[in-house]
Amino acid sequence: MTTERAAPAINPWHVAQQQFDIAAEKLNLDPGLRQVLREPRRELHVHFPVKMDDGSVKVFEGYRVQHNLSRGPAKGGIRYHQDVSIDEVKALAMWMTWKCAVVGIPYGGGKGGVIVDPKKLSRRELENLSRRFFTEIEVLIGPEKDIPAPDVNTTPQVMAWFMDTYSMHVGYTVPGVVTGKPIALGGSEGRNEATARGTVFCVIEAARHLQIDLKAATVVVQGFGNAGSIAARLMSDEGVKVLAVSDSSGGIHSPAGLDINRVIAWKAEHGTVVGFPGAQAVSNTEILEIECDVLIPAALENQITASNAERIHAKIVAEAANGPTTPEADEILFRRGLFLIPDILCNAGGVTVSYFEWVQDLNRDHWSEKVVNEKLHEIMTKAFAETLAISLREGAHMRLAAYLLAVQRVADATAMRGLYP
Ligand code: NAD
Repeated sequence: MTTERAAPAINPWHVAQQQFDIAAEKLNLDPGLRQVLREPRRELHVHFPVKMDDGSVKVFEGYRVQHNLSRGPAKGGIRYHQDVSIDEVKALAMWMTWKCAVVGIPYGGGKGGVIVDPKKLSRRELENLSRRFFTEIEVLIGPEKDIPAPDVNTTPQVMAWFMDTYSMHVGYTVPGVVTGKPIALGGSEGRNEATARGTVFCVIEAARHLQIDLKAATVVVQGFGNAGSIAARLMSDEGVKVLAVSDSSGGIHSPAGLDINRVIAWKAEHGTVVGFPGAQAVSNTEILEIECDVLIPAALENQITASNAERIHAKIVAEAANGPTTPEADEILFRRGLFLIPDILCNAGGVTVSYFEWVQDLNRDHWSEKVVNEKLHEIMTKAFAETLAISLREGAHMRLAAYLLAVQRVADATAMRGLYP
């Protein structure tokens, strides 16, 4: 998958801590607990060698961070991207803690990343890198300890290599050590679509609340990978007109609506949505400003900031990506009456079906896609309703409401366990 960073100046870790501080203040959280929850519990920084196809050795750098383990083992994806940094991984790990708490699944937050542009590696180099990175972080990993999953540029194939590497080391097959695996290796039905499906469930609930008829609505999607392309397809299945989509190479816009299955086929053939016949070109900054009912950022962090929030013309912003909106932009969107579904709720479908996958693996079970989607629907709509109720009660935007729900749950679990020793 191709990925480029649009606005690297804003530090996502500062954003994550700022979001936490706002919620901690409002909850009047105990100062000691506040210090504990404000920092990650563990940060592992590794340098590891990989043999390249030309016989040379290259050393790569990667991280695994566990933010809070009070509610269960760490859970969170591994990202391969040239701009990965420790601060990005720390932010993503903290967001995972809140996300698992919002949807009420028994995990703490973790995240990992390797500084690499995987487009520049051969398949064999990618496998070598994946197996050696997993070996290096294995001190933290295990089905009862820390269970990784896919994120930007990591696929079911990469998860299969991770699972095999761990299984080789312990001497038997351990499917529950990672999620997002191919179905043949203990992956769950519906996992591939889960992030996008959870986002669409949230959009449906938001539209019901705002009395927007989705059959007459329009959507714009930034990012056309696992989360974005499937969200565009599922929105189209709901009868929503897809006006524009983009990937790291640029975007395409058609006021008459895009045939999303044809765009997916085009991307599969050409590696990008750019050049799709009959559509106008649009940049990744312009795409956010197109007038629409639903805007789905599904790429990377810091896309909606104080500098463009006044120019966003959507009724609903549904954050399929992690961290696409800064705290300053949150306030601007809220003041302007836009309804934002925050990442820790909106993209929680991915980790929820990862949890289903882990439960199936531990029980040597396999559920049908119908069962998976029904359980996902139940969890997402419950979390949405609980968040909306807090938002209405407190007069707070949906991000603050989701944080109030999540931080309280994690704070309660942490306080009840008490301080060891
Ligand atoms: P992916 O690698 O499958 O796709 C990323 C997409 O974003 C690609 O189409 C890429 O071209 C595009 N992109 C990169 N930079 C861009 C830019 N500056 N402007 C526009 N497009 C750009 O990754 P993914 O798994 O779909 O993840 C996307 C987002 O969703 C990330 O924020 C990730 O953390 C979040 N997320 C993913 C999952 C999951 O299960 N995959 C779960 C929760 C959240």
